[in-house]
Amino acid sequence: MDHKIKEAKKQKVVRYIFKNQRLFLLINKVKLWPSRSGTLHGVKSLENRGNTMVVTTHCGESFVVWDSKNSRSARWLRNRWCKNPCKKCKIPEWKLTKYSQTVFTDARR
Ligand SMILES: [Zn+2]
Repeated sequence: MDHKIKEAKKQKVVRYIFKNQRLFLLINKVKLWPSRSGTLHGVKSLENRGNTMVVTTHCGESFVVWDSKNSRSARWLRNRWCKNPCKKCKIPEWKLTKYSQTVFTDARR
């Protein structure tokens, strides 16, 4: 119960600082998706559904992602923890270079 209230409060604060757009915009910009296994996938399409979004990779994977600024994927993208580009996605070199040169500023407020 306590935990739930905490969660709700946290979500309210996060929404106030546009959390719903952040991961979406991030992915929409770099068009790359960091998978849990450390593989970097190319994003074919991205569909905004409010609190969630649907990510479709070039290798044919499609999944629903919770759009949160503190999500694993947002963190992984910003920190560039995914080093292995997906072979099936065939991410062009320029895209990877662009990504590696992107500066992620931490605009928390
Ligand atoms: Zn892939």
